Amino acid sequence: MVSISKESKGEKMAKVRSFAAKLAHEISTEGKVICPKCNTEVKKVKLVRSFKSKANTWTPKYEFISICKCNEKEIMSGKV
Ligand SMILES: [Zn+2]
Repeated sequence: MVSISKESKGEKMAKVRSFAAKLAHEISTEGKVICPKCNTEVKKVKLVRSFKSKANTWTPKYEFISICKCNEKEIMSGKV
């Protein structure tokens, strides 16, 4: 079970133009990042996976991943 939702945290940071803000922006990879391999925008998405525990209940696990043309097919089909 995989569902993907877009993250928009980068939007507000883009308005801050100080050097420190720009540096933090690049380190966190939030906002627009262009992949050097496929030359398309790398989007940060929240991935939600469900794991079945020993008690036979589904436990959701959340993780953030970067997605671009290099890996979007695998991620969208749930292979990653
Ligand atoms: Zn890529």
